[in-house]
Amino acid sequence: MAARSGKQYLESLKVNQPEVYLNGQRVEDVTTEPVFAGPLASIMQQYDLQHEPANVDVMTFADPDTGVRHSTSFLIPRSKEELIRRRQHFKLRTDHNFGFMGRAPDFMNAIVVDFFLMRDLFAPADPRYADNMAAYYEHVRDHDLFLTHMLVNPQVDRSKTSAEQEDPYTHLGRVRATDEGIVIRGAKMLGTMAPLCEEVMVFPYGGVAPGDEAYALAFAIANNTSGLKYICRETVAPGSRTRFDHPLSSRFEEMDCIAIFDDVVVPWERVFIDGGGPKAREICNVLRPRGGSVVVQTATRMLSQLEFFCGLAMRLADSTGITDFLHVQEKLGEMLMELEVLRTTYYGAEAMAAPGPDGVWAAHQLGLAAAHLRAPHVYARLVEIVQILAGGGFFYAPTQGDLANESLRPYIDKYVRGRPGISAEERIALFKLAWDVTGDSFGSRMAQYVRFYSGDPIRNKAGFYLGYPMKDTLFDVVGRALGAMGDLDVPISAIDGRDQGVRRQPAPGTLSGAYPANSAPRRAPRAPA
Ligand SMILES: Cc1cc2nc3c(=O)[nH]c(=O)nc-3n(C[C@H](O)[C@H](O)[C@H](O)COP(=O)(O)OP(=O)(O)OC[C@H]3O[C@@H](n4cnc5c(N)ncnc54)[C@H](O)[C@@H]3O)c2cc1C
Repeated sequence: MAARSGKQYLESLKVNQPEVYLNGQRVEDVTTEPVFAGPLASIMQQYDLQHEPANVDVMTFADPDTGVRHSTSFLIPRSKEELIRRRQHFKLRTDHNFGFMGRAPDFMNAIVVDFFLMRDLFAPADPRYADNMAAYYEHVRDHDLFLTHMLVNPQVDRSKTSAEQEDPYTHLGRVRATDEGIVIRGAKMLGTMAPLCEEVMVFPYGGVAPGDEAYALAFAIANNTSGLKYICRETVAPGSRTRFDHPLSSRFEEMDCIAIFDDVVVPWERVFIDGGGPKAREICNVLRPRGGSVVVQTATRMLSQLEFFCGLAMRLADSTGITDFLHVQEKLGEMLMELEVLRTTYYGAEAMAAPGPDGVWAAHQLGLAAAHLRAPHVYARLVEIVQILAGGGFFYAPTQGDLANESLRPYIDKYVRGRPGISAEERIALFKLAWDVTGDSFGSRMAQYVRFYSGDPIRNKAGFYLGYPMKDTLFDVVGRALGAMGDLDVPISAIDGRDQGVRRQPAPGTLSGAYPANSAPRRAPRAPA
């Protein structure tokens, strides 16, 4: 099958309903549940974007063997031109949602591509597992499926390993193996968009502690697999929201759920790491998407979001006539600075792209990873600036219903307008948009998402230091300052500054190149007999 349309996705979801609970009730049909109506329509549009005549060449590519046109998010770039095309695909998608859908389909597509490229990593426990990964990539690509993923165990007691929790099947673990597959039990903490997905991938993030071998699991299953249940959080965007009053939250709410695996069977052909012993743990501790695809997808989302925030802040400030004040200009300048630093990192990483030994091209990942680690700080500041510029203006923005009331309308037009030239309707719309993304529960969730969606930022930053591959170069600089070399012994700077050898290598001193190894919970020492 080729890249799908929105209608094809909807039809597939309708006949493959996951077991979803919302506000205490089983959702019998996720495709007609009002809470999911906005996001469902947005996901359908994401698929339809691929078929817009202006986009087809960028958003799809012809399979060299079959001629079938697949989504470019699955493209494995064999040239710089293909790398650019895939990046353009990501940008069209993230611009569609202004960066407010962290989990549109291309996010997981990028992860599946990365895992496919590093599939040999799965082979040491059993060569079949690398083949399973290759087959899974083809399955997801050929059916253009919508996936979620679940990496993190429920918090319960972070001071203890998985095996040490009061019930050993609190965290998701292997119960037994059968001819059919592996039986698993326990929970994973968050699956964003799970109610609207067709498949789920599970793999551990940030390392597996000694003694937790049975929790060293990686697999993918259909989202309607028997025994898999999702309990949704309270919605941040009830279905009754209008687009005028809630321009983004009415469309892009991404439901988060806890996933419960009640003796779920993972068929052998969907197992990548089997929780069967020390080898499984070792693989988990170097496992992280490293093919260079998802790091570009996530940077793309952030760039779309910064572009949106800068445009919003400038129009908001202009609407109330405050752009001539020095401190307002300074704040708008600060936002634009962050935008340009990210934009340059983003395109610079592509300018520094290189092919790996397998001939697959990847953007320079170190800079993108650094931009990613900066994102929570930058994002929080952008939100703060918009709030500072808006003042109390958020709180006298009447609703669409008020605007439609003929007796109220003259008052609204007079008192709720902006500077000369800015009508009440325009000012209200801008302030509603700003509240949606900075004050509303939709906006607050997004800020927490940016902070945590790819792990704990504190341990991630420490991991960045530990795994930084060019420390020696920096030590040499200090050595020269200390007189270790002659004063004129100054090296000529590199042509493109690209580091070598960092791509797809686990970083020493870290678990899966992410968290410091010494931050994994340790098993409590046994009491003397
Ligand atoms: C909106 C949102 C959507 C998400 N969607 C998904 C999803 O779709 N799929 C998915 O897999 N995950 C998802 N996540 C979860 C995300 O992966 C986790 O939030 C993230 O990995 C951090 O883990 P945690 O939330 O359990 O925090 P914790 O790891 O419990 O950390 C909480 C605090 O405790 C500290 N801490 C805890 N343990 C240690 C330790 N060992 N050493 C040092 N400090 C420690 C941390 O520094 C932090 O300050 C989502 C998160 C959010 C916020």
